[in-house]
Amino acid sequence: MRWEGGGDLRSLSRAGLFAVAAGLREPPYRARQLFGWIHRRLATSIEAMTDLPAQMRRTLAARATLAPLAVDATRESSDGTIKYLLRAPDGARLEAVFLPEEDRRTLCVSTQVGCAMGCTFCRTGTMGLSRDLSAGEIVDQVYRVETDLRARGHPGDRETGRVLTNLVFMGMGEPLHNLEALIAALDLLLDPAGLGFSHRHITVSTSGLVPEMAEFARRTRVKLAVSLNAPTDEQRERIMPVDRKYPLARLIAACRDFPTTPGRELTFEYVLLSGVNDADEDAQALASLAGPLGIKVNLIPYNENPGLGFGAPDPTRVQAFHEILVRRGVLAMVRKNRGRDVAAACGQLAAQS
Ligand code: SF4
Repeated sequence: MRWEGGGDLRSLSRAGLFAVAAGLREPPYRARQLFGWIHRRLATSIEAMTDLPAQMRRTLAARATLAPLAVDATRESSDGTIKYLLRAPDGARLEAVFLPEEDRRTLCVSTQVGCAMGCTFCRTGTMGLSRDLSAGEIVDQVYRVETDLRARGHPGDRETGRVLTNLVFMGMGEPLHNLEALIAALDLLLDPAGLGFSHRHITVSTSGLVPEMAEFARRTRVKLAVSLNAPTDEQRERIMPVDRKYPLARLIAACRDFPTTPGRELTFEYVLLSGVNDADEDAQALASLAGPLGIKVNLIPYNENPGLGFGAPDPTRVQAFHEILVRRGVLAMVRKNRGRDVAAACGQLAAQS
């Protein structure tokens, strides 16, 4: 690999940084230093890398960039959730959401500015797709939030040094629609010389891009969550246009073929929309899809988005739906609603300033 100069250093793989060092006629250990500064010490500028020779830093700064995402604002929910409004150097706005729980501290990460999938119940879906995020912009959400949480006094884990324990790629965008950048970002986040997340603690969600699911399975060991949201094509294509391209029969076959191992599971996400997909017969049909495959179902009571025309289900309906799944032998959980008061909940991200 040759480095021609230019570009964002944070998006480069380890091999890419070795090519940078070679291109500057520096020894390979300089590439390891660079990697450590960017992905472990979370540097925000080339000048900050004080153990690199001054000349190397000057040349690098002239030929490449390391511009961090700007944290424009944070909004804290009464339940401890923090929504981060971030801005890329070109002005693109995106969001990441910190979700603290007793036993884990999770960041919900975005992969695109907006989304092309057009799910009708989703605030992000109404924006359309502005652009993909680069691998560097994806990992920098993690780095900016990790840095902010440390500054707020959150202690890092004794073993890993990190405040964040888990990552979910369920923010703005369809992660598998930006597959190359996603895989590159995952490689950086999993690298033990960087923040060293475990693949067991990362989940990527998809609306059901069938060919990309197979590609994803081939290229990474992290977990996948399929946003199913309806048990029949008739219902699903009304709320998720992707179903017209990849109907349930193909999606379920792709789920069956997905290579699961202990620590690398596939789950179904199911957003419960009042009067749309939350009837007893929907639960029965869902059990018939998930049961034979042994797939766990996460039920997510809808967070109302004004103007989209969908309502939150009644809690008794959620309970009845859940009970049917359990009675049918399906492992099912009702996900707690988090960050609703700051529009940081599932499907509510729209990078409002
Ligand atoms: S639910 Fe996910 S895939 Fe669908 S429009 Fe929203 S962000 Fe995109």
